[in-house]
Amino acid sequence: MKLAVAMPLVAVADGTPGREVFLNFGDGAIAVFYLLALFATGLFLTGFLFRARKYARGRGRPVEWRRMVRAMSQIASQRTVAKRDRAVGAAHFFVFWGFLVLVAATTIIAIDEDVIGLMLNRPDLQFWHGAFYQTYSLVVDVFSVGFVVGLVYLWGRRARHPARLDYERVDRPEDASDRAGYVLDDRAFIWMLLFLAISGFLLEGFRIAATDFPAFEVYSVAGWVIGRAVAILGGEGAETARIVTWWIHSVAALTLIALIPFSKAMHMVIDVANLLVTDPDSARSLPAPAAVVNGDDPLGVFTWKQLLDFDACTKCGRCHEVCPARASGAPLSPRDLILDLRELADAHAALDLWYGPGAEPRQANGKVAGGFIATETLWACTTCMACVEACPVGIEHVPTIVQMRRQLVEMGDVEPGLQTAFQSLSRGGNSFGKSAKQRARWTRDLDLEIRDARLEPVEYLWFLGDHASFDPRAMGVTVTVARLLHAAGVDFGILYEAEVNSGNDVRRAGEEGLFEMLRDQNLEALAAADYRAIVTTDPHSLNSLRHEYGLDRPVLHYTELLGSLVTEAAIRPGSLGGVATYHDPCFLGRYQEEYEAPRRLIRAAGVELHEMGRCRENSFCCGAGGGRIWMDDSALAERPSENRIREAVALGEDVRYFVVACPKDMVMYSDAVKTTGHDGRLEVIDVAQLLERSLEVVAVG
Ligand code: SF4
Ligand code: SF4
Repeated sequence: MKLAVAMPLVAVADGTPGREVFLNFGDGAIAVFYLLALFATGLFLTGFLFRARKYARGRGRPVEWRRMVRAMSQIASQRTVAKRDRAVGAAHFFVFWGFLVLVAATTIIAIDEDVIGLMLNRPDLQFWHGAFYQTYSLVVDVFSVGFVVGLVYLWGRRARHPARLDYERVDRPEDASDRAGYVLDDRAFIWMLLFLAISGFLLEGFRIAATDFPAFEVYSVAGWVIGRAVAILGGEGAETARIVTWWIHSVAALTLIALIPFSKAMHMVIDVANLLVTDPDSARSLPAPAAVVNGDDPLGVFTWKQLLDFDACTKCGRCHEVCPARASGAPLSPRDLILDLRELADAHAALDLWYGPGAEPRQANGKVAGGFIATETLWACTTCMACVEACPVGIEHVPTIVQMRRQLVEMGDVEPGLQTAFQSLSRGGNSFGKSAKQRARWTRDLDLEIRDARLEPVEYLWFLGDHASFDPRAMGVTVTVARLLHAAGVDFGILYEAEVNSGNDVRRAGEEGLFEMLRDQNLEALAAADYRAIVTTDPHSLNSLRHEYGLDRPVLHYTELLGSLVTEAAIRPGSLGGVATYHDPCFLGRYQEEYEAPRRLIRAAGVELHEMGRCRENSFCCGAGGGRIWMDDSALAERPSENRIREAVALGEDVRYFVVACPKDMVMYSDAVKTTGHDGRLEVIDVAQLLERSLEVVAVG
């Protein structure tokens, strides 16, 4: 089978393995074919020209060329598709490589016949015959079989209607949105590829049968088998069938080429490009806001990469499935957000496609954030990065959402709880509305002295963050960490009232000016201190300190430091016993890719670890990130933290400890364990507290 423009035909006259192109075709038929090919190529190029012009309307964004090597290996291995669904990844691998080989096979024919043979008139240079031809035939047939197997698997899976491929919207009443166009597009694409594959095999079979089975054609393995099956037609019958199939196959191939920029087939081109230019750190280190290219252009608020993201979406639903906002009944699905923005961008780039008979109009009518995309949708995001991590094609949802939140903040369209937090932060540097002097109040009840890093050099500067400093539910953990570090002889100190909120969540809530103010205050305090490294108990602060402050010294999470102390035997845990489950905080797990340090500590404390189904990079957000901890969540059908506690309880009676490694998690889950009625059944405990408790076991023992 050759998916193609230049067509496969019959053995060359002297018996050398090979085929003649356009055998038994008159000049008129050949001219018709080339005219059709020209037309299809024209539509293909025009479609992509429109798309390129659309991207050119976006803001600038630098490309990290060095990342492309890694991206190429991701594309070649298809591991981004396989990472959450190995079967789909394997099927897509076969389809991807099968398609590439078919494109390469067609290109070889075009170069040999059209360029070398026709345009240069150098038959002596033609190479598509002999041993090369036989190898070519074998490789193409083997990959084509893989292509069909992969397609059949993907089609079968889709036919079972998995939930994530359901296009029902969470932000519209049931049946209020029509996505018939999407369903048709998905089906037409897969059927078109299958049709091309099968018609290609038939074409091979008819050709081999019509040429009376030349021995060298046995290398076209699948074609040979089909040829045997259709031999019953006889030579003439097979030749007639070959010519009819040739035209059907060719017109189908040219139709696919013409439709690529206007259909799901677009992802074959756009997704490769998107993966090459994607920035895996874009959520960790948010791009600074920039002036829009054209204030009246709804597309001008986005970068060219964001506009490319919108086109790259394959509607696979992986982000939709993992989104905690969607799962808790909030009106946000990252998939729908991206698709809405694609439709909007297309409508403004004269590419308004058909989405279904009842589809909504796609014009911004004034504004995108808070208009075309609802305010509640944008405030629902926890910036947990689950969507970014799950997306197989490198779409960067978080910076897009934050970019639109920045617009909401500029317009004063801010959720009331968030507005209060912003005011407290700008007044006193913390979200609790407390005076700066109260930040170190937790040290008063300690029977040990916490050194002042503003006044003397320390090895580790401990950055606490707001919740560890002010929230009574998290302050117990702070005291424990202080005792552990002190007992291990660590030289550490804190900034006392010179520390202010790191601004990590402020930035993700879209208040860039306030973030800059907080960051600059912290940078000033850090610049005046003498320290070797920063350690923080707050994964949110950890993210900003590591990725958004431009510091030149190491920044550690406290579980990493405690882990080293255990390794060095500065802390000697006992064996506490019991069974725990561990919740990976989004800003430690997905954001810092630190999954092992807390788990090592749990095991070091002699506690058995039972994992929840959603763990590590697939962890489920507690619902606090991105400023959500300051917003009203009473309208949610089920808080993400409650959903998570139920998941832990479902592990069984053995699991007694719900271990956390983030002060916000301590706050969220201490509440959720009560609201779900599991207080007493499951103990929410920080990993440091678990460690300290194991030390007490040693002391008692
Ligand atoms: S970052 Fe998290 S909450 Fe926000 S859209 Fe993505 S998955 Fe949903
Ligand atoms: S944004 Fe990514 S994960 Fe979500 S539906 Fe589109 S391709 Fe799939």
